Amino acid sequence: MRWAWMDRAACRGMADTVFFPEGPHRNYSRARRICAGCPVRKECLRYALEGCIGFGMFGGLTPRQRAALRRRRRREEVA
Ligand code: SF4
Repeated sequence: MRWAWMDRAACRGMADTVFFPEGPHRNYSRARRICAGCPVRKECLRYALEGCIGFGMFGGLTPRQRAALRRRRRREEVA
């Protein structure tokens, strides 16, 4: 599914390898810099969190960072 906010993404038209790096030592540094200036970062992060997307850079966060954020939010909901 394609959402309207995706048309304003800073990564629009860029190579997938930047945001979906492969290999044991995935390098997200370039994607992180691009995401930092993206006008739809919040929407992108929400999309990945709600979809439980476990790969690639979304909203400026790596899969591991998003998993940590989800855990933190769940703990806060319980508390
Ligand atoms: S936050 Fe990053 S991955 Fe998400 S749309 Fe913007 S540039 Fe692309």
